[in-house]
Amino acid sequence: MRVEDQKQEHTGSYYAASANDTTRYPALEGSVSTDVCIVGGGFTGVATALTLAERGYNVALIEANRVGWGASGRNGGQLINGVSGLAKIEAKHGKGIADLVWDMRWRGNTIIRERVERYSIDCDLKDGYVEVACKPSQVEDTIEAAEERAARNCPYRYEVWDREKTREMLGTDAFFGAFACYRDGHIHPLNLCAGEARAASGMGVKIFEQSPVTGIEHGDRPAVVTESGRVTADAVVLAGNAYSRLEPKHLSNLVFPAGSYIIATEPLSDELAAEINPDDVAVCDLNEIVDYYRLSADKRMLYGGACNYSGRDPKSIEAYIRPRMEKVYPQLKGSRIDFEWGGKIGIVLNRIPAVGRIHGNVYHCHGYSGHGVTATHLMGEILADAVGGTLERFDLFADMKHFRLPGSQWMGNQIIALGMMYYKIMDRL
Ligand SMILES: Cc1cc2nc3c(=O)[nH]c(=O)nc-3n(C[C@H](O)[C@H](O)[C@H](O)COP(=O)(O)OP(=O)(O)OC[C@H]3O[C@@H](n4cnc5c(N)ncnc54)[C@H](O)[C@@H]3O)c2cc1C
Repeated sequence: MRVEDQKQEHTGSYYAASANDTTRYPALEGSVSTDVCIVGGGFTGVATALTLAERGYNVALIEANRVGWGASGRNGGQLINGVSGLAKIEAKHGKGIADLVWDMRWRGNTIIRERVERYSIDCDLKDGYVEVACKPSQVEDTIEAAEERAARNCPYRYEVWDREKTREMLGTDAFFGAFACYRDGHIHPLNLCAGEARAASGMGVKIFEQSPVTGIEHGDRPAVVTESGRVTADAVVLAGNAYSRLEPKHLSNLVFPAGSYIIATEPLSDELAAEINPDDVAVCDLNEIVDYYRLSADKRMLYGGACNYSGRDPKSIEAYIRPRMEKVYPQLKGSRIDFEWGGKIGIVLNRIPAVGRIHGNVYHCHGYSGHGVTATHLMGEILADAVGGTLERFDLFADMKHFRLPGSQWMGNQIIALGMMYYKIMDRL
């Protein structure tokens, strides 16, 4: 059995160590019949399950490991826009589509905020997100972001910061300017995912953990099969993202797993936290290969980045990430690193989630290219709509052209790694 096929517990992340919901769900044993069966207990699967349960469907959700075990329970926690490039979308697809995309841009964020409120999910939700310019040429991007919002009468607070204001707000001279948006923000992702699963379970969703799905049997009522059970349903939703290898005939070479890594320092003193992030915002740079950081609720610096497209994890994540953190914050030299971990993001070449249907009743949505916290919640709603027969937004995504790289998945990853090397060099110029 390969390591990735074994049933695993949560990775050794800061999030797992500070999880406030340790509910365990049973493994699937025997036969279950339901309306919808979802494979994968990350944000995509859980958000879809919860939306369907809210609409009165009977749902079963099957997770190979633990709810939130994948990217959803390990990520940077940045509650940010998963859809960008509206000007390009408008030029290519027209104003109607661009307007729809603009509305969708906020929808995932709103769903999360509503659920945190409705289901009393304790996940350290904070307002405020800042995109920082690492070189003078990126200052233009911060101004364009503000112009786009102004043109669309964006109701949420946003600001462009010059270099001095950026230094004042982020306690570093590393950046040339920034764009701040206070509708975006940050969360403890594992606590959000577990809280949503708890809400779904409370509404009757049958959740099964430690139950890797080994295959799908297609038909009028497809069956989802594990080593010790099977679920038959009117519809199936595949939500295994970068960790899934199901349906290779239809889905291979579409989504490429890439590693992203995070370190968590010891809790910082109140003075140091106030110096480097007085507004407690999430931060992401404007490079192609992004670095991202924020403070946790107990004031640890969670610093992440360095996407690895080769499929090989670094020997020491701290050795990989610490120098990047200390370049921005020399103040953190010598601070202890208490946690280091990584996870897989699903890269899609055109950066638009790969959505579709197999044999009419097996839906899938994979590949958020590292920006999935809000986008998964939007997609959960779109998948639930599609299962119910409302296909407008589903088809918008399903009709997008996606590139498949030729050859094996391994070869595809090497090609992507080469392409990203190019972007790494460009980021340095
Ligand atoms: C280190 C890191 C940092 C990130 N930072 C951010 C960020 O700050 N902001 C942001 O917006 N996005 C971020 N992302 C991306 C974001 O986390 C993902 O886009 C999002 O969580 C994807 O959710 P998902 O449910 O589709 O996939 P996942 O959360 O990966 O869940 C898929 C689940 O499916 C299960 N599964 C797979 N195959 C099977 C099977 N055969 N049977 C049963 N279960 C199966 C897996 O065990 C897994 O639990 C980051 C990702 C990583 C890895």
